[in-house]
Amino acid sequence: SERNCIISMETAQALVSDEYRLETTRRIEQIRRQFPILNRIVNDKSLVYLDNGASTQMPQSVIQTVSDYHTYHHSNVHRGVHTLSQEATQLFEDSREKVRAFINAPSDREVIFTSGTTDSMNLVYQCWGRTFMKEGDTILVSNMEHHANIVPWYMLAQEKGVTLKVIPITEEGTLDIDVFKNLLTPDVKAVAVNHVSNALGTINPIKWICDVCREKGIVTIIDGAQAVGHFPVDVQALGCDFYAFSSHKLHGPTGIGVLYGREELLSKMPPYRGGGDMILSVSFDKVTYNDLPHKFEAGTPAISQVIGLGAAIDYINGLDRAFLEEYEHQLLQYATMKLSQVPGLRIIGTASEKVSLVSFVIKGVHPHDIGSILDEDGVAVRTGHHCAQPVMERYNVPATTRASMAFYNTFDEIDALYDALLKVTTLFDVN
Ligand code: PLP
Repeated sequence: SERNCIISMETAQALVSDEYRLETTRRIEQIRRQFPILNRIVNDKSLVYLDNGASTQMPQSVIQTVSDYHTYHHSNVHRGVHTLSQEATQLFEDSREKVRAFINAPSDREVIFTSGTTDSMNLVYQCWGRTFMKEGDTILVSNMEHHANIVPWYMLAQEKGVTLKVIPITEEGTLDIDVFKNLLTPDVKAVAVNHVSNALGTINPIKWICDVCREKGIVTIIDGAQAVGHFPVDVQALGCDFYAFSSHKLHGPTGIGVLYGREELLSKMPPYRGGGDMILSVSFDKVTYNDLPHKFEAGTPAISQVIGLGAAIDYINGLDRAFLEEYEHQLLQYATMKLSQVPGLRIIGTASEKVSLVSFVIKGVHPHDIGSILDEDGVAVRTGHHCAQPVMERYNVPATTRASMAFYNTFDEIDALYDALLKVTTLFDVN
């Protein structure tokens, strides 16, 4: 969309006019008040939290909901006839319905709670990959995947003789679509790609990929970890077979995530782990498995976290998402423009479709040094390979510094980042 285009410096400056900045700051301040942690002082400075790609912060409503659950309702789910258990079960299953609606899944039978995106990918590997892929089959992954969407497929390849092929990326950080089309040979049974790259910020054309794959009977496994927090996701509109994400990147608690899978596929897959809750009956001779989605949820689940995720979805649903999407885009433009003025700084990932994330290197300065110096000014960014080593290799850099924004970040915070980076370049004499 036009909204996601990287624009010229003049246009960016014009767009982020004083009026726009003033008006949005007022609206964003109201939002920020809901996030107590954003008031933290770090190293005698106001916290500037720009590590949302790793984990987003939780609003008070999520913290309160989790606390209320522990204070008033805590009990195990699904098995109890007593009041507390029924309340906990109701809250837990209400959250599943909230997730279903949030991603527009056709049925809550297709919403499986996992411990996060990594766990969701491992579920698909263990239950779908190991059952339905065999020697001679190929799975395509892209060069911009997080390790969570590489290592399970590497393991599958090692174990089953499946071939793992890589969709290359262009210098800007987009999928090389021409090569991708050529890679779609009849042996390809699955394509595993992210909706948004955590290392580059690129938004991939998932609907188009799913359309192409569906025509060829190829299963699509989408890593949505970096997408759900930035824009609405509709799994039916995308037409994907599997979609994974984590609650902690969506302003919810850690330790909980989701795997959406089409019922047609899930119903044919064996269970993930064996134990309580995933069975209908057990004897030493025969075990019958529970219905979807419980077949994939063995043992006591992360109850409070699931309920917290439901509260995070309620919170997000109460926001003006269209405004915030536009606002985050302006933050991206502004950050791109400001950071481009830092001496020796090179942005890694300049796709025209990006979320509000800027990955960069500074000539002659190791990212870990940048991260430490920024922290002295209370500016939290992530440095390293971002669990995406093939991306680092592609750009021939050992690591990058990543500033990843959320809707509660402000233009002033981008200025603070810029000022702190100028300190780095002065200290290291970069010009
Ligand atoms: N995929 C992407 C694109 C990510 O950014 C992340 C986390 O950084 C993951 C997968 C893994 O998520 P989790 O650690 O919550 O399982």
